Amino acid sequence: MVSRVIPVDPFDLVIFGGTGDLARRKILPGLFRRFINGQMEDTSRIIGAARSDYDDAAYRKFVGEALKEFVDGGDREKKQVAEFLKQIHYIQIDATGTGGWDDLSELLRDDVIRAFYFSVAPSLFGALAERLHAHSCAGPKCRIVVEKPFGRDLATAKELNQTLRDHFDESQIYRIDHYLGKETVQNLMAVRFANVLFEPLWNAQFIDHVQITVTETVGVDGRGDYYDKSGAMRDMVQNHLMQLLCLTAMEPPARFAPDAVRDEKLKVIRALDPIEPDDIVRGQYVSDKKGDDFLDQVEDKDSITESFIAMKLAVSNWRWAGVPFYLRTGKKMKARHSEIAIIFKEAPHAIFGQAAGRHQNILVIRLQPNEGMDMLVTIKEPGQGGMRLLDVPLDMSFAEALGEDGNAPDAYERLIMDVIRGDQTLFMRGDEVEAAWAWTDPLIEGWMSREEKPKTYEVGSTGPEEAAMLLHREGRRWRDIKP
Ligand code: NAD
Repeated sequence: MVSRVIPVDPFDLVIFGGTGDLARRKILPGLFRRFINGQMEDTSRIIGAARSDYDDAAYRKFVGEALKEFVDGGDREKKQVAEFLKQIHYIQIDATGTGGWDDLSELLRDDVIRAFYFSVAPSLFGALAERLHAHSCAGPKCRIVVEKPFGRDLATAKELNQTLRDHFDESQIYRIDHYLGKETVQNLMAVRFANVLFEPLWNAQFIDHVQITVTETVGVDGRGDYYDKSGAMRDMVQNHLMQLLCLTAMEPPARFAPDAVRDEKLKVIRALDPIEPDDIVRGQYVSDKKGDDFLDQVEDKDSITESFIAMKLAVSNWRWAGVPFYLRTGKKMKARHSEIAIIFKEAPHAIFGQAAGRHQNILVIRLQPNEGMDMLVTIKEPGQGGMRLLDVPLDMSFAEALGEDGNAPDAYERLIMDVIRGDQTLFMRGDEVEAAWAWTDPLIEGWMSREEKPKTYEVGSTGPEEAAMLLHREGRRWRDIKP
């Protein structure tokens, strides 16, 4: 099935940090894919801005190499790359200096959309915002895009928000969480709000519990000291898992419009109960291989930073009273796997007797691998005498169902195009981010003040034993993590 591509209006997109890792791996390849899919007009321009001493030609070479490395060969016809590179420019700029700003101001056009991607450390946001205004680069219609980490606690997030709001209106600020750009995550909203089948069941009467899992096989290799200041709670839960939780638990917004959706997400965060220490399990990975433990990768050998966390949450409102939400995320785990699983209650009365076993319907929204959805339905086991039951998946793999026409954008592409379209629905609002930190801070302060050491777990495992116990003690079990 070939999807219809609607080109976005012409734009000038400036990437501050245009020579960085994120620009190379995600932003530039994503823009190229949108270009070859016809979404980017040939009058649009991408302007890299960083400290390196490049000119247009050198930066085009840099971009060409990034495309070679990060875009599949089949998508990368020479002619198309050459056409795309014509739309690439470069300005040497120091966020904290004076050089280059007037050149940038001169280069930018008045009659196209202007967007500035702050793909640099957050400590530079203030300097960039100030200079954009001082050099008349930023008008009331321009947009800025900022990346995680958005603060490391409530105080720093507030400070960062204030820095941005000193120069830009909230309607101009696009805080990216690339999880929200994933097709399946948006499909969670489509499934809930465009079908009559699910929403009537989407509550404490029919749902037993929810599991949200995001696991990785990679460790902190090479960036241990950076990670040691953050940990799984700050790096994954406060943003990505919290956003997935919000979309799963929120009330139906009156319309699919930025503030209507974000208001509902915010209500979920505000309805979260504080968590008891017993309902949190933190872990650090250990390995048989020499030098491969979490503690080998960080300078502080007594670090109590977690590379794994599992927790039980309660959304304290009418819809979810008594329904636990279990979240877990970790590094160096058995498999790279992300999903939201809605586990429904058993049928209220078992007419098939004990031999039929216990069965629960499960709706799984798979983010990774193989984006799609599964619905586990209980049927009769074929060929068996009597009524034995079996759970089978009604599998909807998007790649299979929708065909791989190459047009489906990845999360970054989709979100950058939303920035150009001026659609903030899939971006976090400042108050959402602050509410998430307000909920997170006391938990982190709790284990820091108790100097609580994380449990250990083996590299390649499903996490510490205690995380399994978190569910076992309530007669539940985590779903398997599959590659
Ligand atoms: P990086 O260190 O690879 O690149 C930083 C870029 O900023 C370089 O282009 C550098 O030239 C530029 N820069 C540094 N100081 C500058 C200055 N004073 N003036 C102008 N330019 C300057 O970093 P990255 O991995 O590309 O990350 C960029 C931002 O995105 C960071 O805030 C990071 O936390 C965030 N982020 C990165 C990733 C990722 O996958 N790399 C993922 C999520 C968020």
